[in-house]
Amino acid sequence: MTATETRTTTALDIADVTLTYPDGMSRLTALDRVSLRVTGGTVAAITGPSGSGKSSLLAVASTLIRPDSGHITLETPSGTTDLATVSRREAAVLRRSSIGIVFQQPNLIPALTAREQLEVMIHLGQRVYTPASKRRETRDKATELLESVGLTDQQSKRPAQLSGGQRQRVNIARALMNDPSLLVIDEPTSALDTERGAAIIDLILTVARTHHAATLLVTHDQTHLHRMNAVYHLLDGHLTQTTR
Ligand code: ADP
Ligand code: MG
Repeated sequence: MTATETRTTTALDIADVTLTYPDGMSRLTALDRVSLRVTGGTVAAITGPSGSGKSSLLAVASTLIRPDSGHITLETPSGTTDLATVSRREAAVLRRSSIGIVFQQPNLIPALTAREQLEVMIHLGQRVYTPASKRRETRDKATELLESVGLTDQQSKRPAQLSGGQRQRVNIARALMNDPSLLVIDEPTSALDTERGAAIIDLILTVARTHHAATLLVTHDQTHLHRMNAVYHLLDGHLTQTTR
């Protein structure tokens, strides 16, 4: 099979997913039989008011929370996995190998430079000493990714020396270190002004395509929705596709 043919197999398929949380004596339904499919290289935008279940959807899609029922199938060139039923241990392995997660707040480590924020990703879960060749490869990859997000001159800066937009770029570059098949991004522009927010949306659309990641993007930003491959709306845990 050619590279192009192989690539078409990357997709996230969410089917009939329900998630409830304990709520006093009863349960609160955060996701109510939600279904959606997003393929590699495309971006599905998720909109909806606060409390409608957007972050919960990203959490189940990225194995952080197991849903009550339904299937979440991650199809990659190397195989197919149901994320709704994997064990905690398998889920942790998958998050390291195949899933990139970008939260609203960058959660960068204050003492590390931009490049080091990316380099540490490779050491997570490693029980053995990392050989020098691997460390060089990691460093080169971190440099390349920081360049691709427009931070060529900021690689040696620590979070306090970066602007909010630059920190969010580091956050996005870090999520790409493991070449994720699935990228989930939660309101990345909420702390940014319009112009910087627009540049981050541009960047997300570009990285989803160039890295061929199936991308779920939660956003409040109405101005960019026409550029997304699909737009969904969540209301009280019910997902509907918006016609554009
Ligand atoms: P959004 O991201 O759209 O604001 P969330 O997914 O954070 O929505 O929340 C959806 C609903 O689930 C809300 O009513 C929220 O209060 C509730 N919720 C979220 N996380 C938890 C939790 N860990 N425990 C209990 N309820 C939660
Ligand atoms: Mg949220």
